[in-house]
Amino acid sequence: MASLRVHDPPEAMRIFTACLGTETNTFAPMPTGRRLFEETCFIEGGTKGKPPSLFAQPMVVAREEAEKRGWQAVEGLCAFATPAGITVRKVYEELRDRILGELKAAMPVNMVMMSLHGAMVADGYDDCEGDLLTRIRAMVGPKVAVGAELDLHCHLTNAMVAACDVIVTFKEYPHTDVKERAHELFCILADRVEGKVKPRMALFDCRMLGIYHPTREPIKSFVEEIKALEGKNGVLSVSFGHGFPWGDVPDASSRILVVTDNRPEDAKALAERLGRKLYAMRETTQPPYLSIGQALDRAIASNVAPIVLADCSDNSGGGAASDSTYFLAEILRRGGPPTAIGWFWDPGAVDLAFEAGEGAKLRLRLGGKVSALSGQPLDLDVTVVGLKRAMTQPFGGGIGHLGDAAALRTGEVDIVVNRKRTQVFSPNPFEAFGIDLARKKLVVVKSMQHFHAGYAPIAKDILYVATPGTVSPDFHSLPYRKLARPIWPLDPAPLG
Ligand SMILES: [Zn+2]
Repeated sequence: MASLRVHDPPEAMRIFTACLGTETNTFAPMPTGRRLFEETCFIEGGTKGKPPSLFAQPMVVAREEAEKRGWQAVEGLCAFATPAGITVRKVYEELRDRILGELKAAMPVNMVMMSLHGAMVADGYDDCEGDLLTRIRAMVGPKVAVGAELDLHCHLTNAMVAACDVIVTFKEYPHTDVKERAHELFCILADRVEGKVKPRMALFDCRMLGIYHPTREPIKSFVEEIKALEGKNGVLSVSFGHGFPWGDVPDASSRILVVTDNRPEDAKALAERLGRKLYAMRETTQPPYLSIGQALDRAIASNVAPIVLADCSDNSGGGAASDSTYFLAEILRRGGPPTAIGWFWDPGAVDLAFEAGEGAKLRLRLGGKVSALSGQPLDLDVTVVGLKRAMTQPFGGGIGHLGDAAALRTGEVDIVVNRKRTQVFSPNPFEAFGIDLARKKLVVVKSMQHFHAGYAPIAKDILYVATPGTVSPDFHSLPYRKLARPIWPLDPAPLG
């Protein structure tokens, strides 16, 4: 065999890496099409020198780690869309087939490392990642190391596990550990390539729907326990896939995934032990949510200000329209205490405000347009107090785009309306319009948890509010059809 001749240089290892993802809210009415990928993150020809983006980071880590070892890295497409409704079938198939074509052109490879979300649903595909990974495995064969890094808001499926050697999910929310997890995944895959380990995975389904904050108990200690298990007794990695409760697919549930070095029985036993532990404490895991009425009673009666109220169910980061009016309508009904509220995604209202110009007074129909869960539009007498083109806000070390935006005032209530659907990450846009949040009683943000870093420093208190909406934390209110039952909290004790 020519390759064994002593004078041949050792053949360089070769890896392939790419990204395809979004987090699909199957209850959201806005389709996820090609433009949404192009507007959010669409990197061709490699990530080197490109602006930072969360889901591109695993590709960057894969390239840098490969280069450190003198291996070749081939980067395919990096495409990610901000969460919305079901992905258009031909858009998913085009992006998938493009990545598969790039992989084929890169072969032979020793390793494939993918950055995926894990909750992408397309028309005709309830498990896009399982579909993509299965096709990758079929193409490269059983000897190549295949792995994926997923957001923790993923549906971990048997198809994904069957296709991969290793899957690693984020552990933190807000997602601050993307690079760390990428490094962990790369190292296990590299050890597999070099024959140092034989990863074996096991999955346990906790039969739970939930929102879990690793920043607070009891989830904080649970995640610490998981971390402490890694690197000992043959345990290579443990992931807690929270699930994404607004994706109505059979596999939407919280799951534990354990990867061991060639100890399949140990992996199974540990995944079940951890899964049953989470299940046993299920009633204490959820953040405390208030109704709009409860939240306003408490905030208005408080003798400190401002109180920050999270309009969790209209969080565009979970696929909501960000144009719901329930909160604003109730604030106005209560006489409109000094309030700042945003960002309303209403391109039509933005156009009318720009047409009227700064200082203009007009009667404007606001919000309540996109979703059946957006509430009724509000007809308001407003003053246009500010207009800005291409507005931005800081986000995760990068920049988030609001597009053209207007500040509207009715009484003592200031409303920011914008053109590009995005959740509230930072107070900067309010401040850029000269809205002094310190002088407001209420600051209402359309966001579930990512607002926290920017608003905690100015908030005298933070209340999480379960408004009606597309990302409602009240799972009983959602019209599930495909979700496998029984599942907690819809069914009280699915595991007995
Ligand atoms: Zn997430």
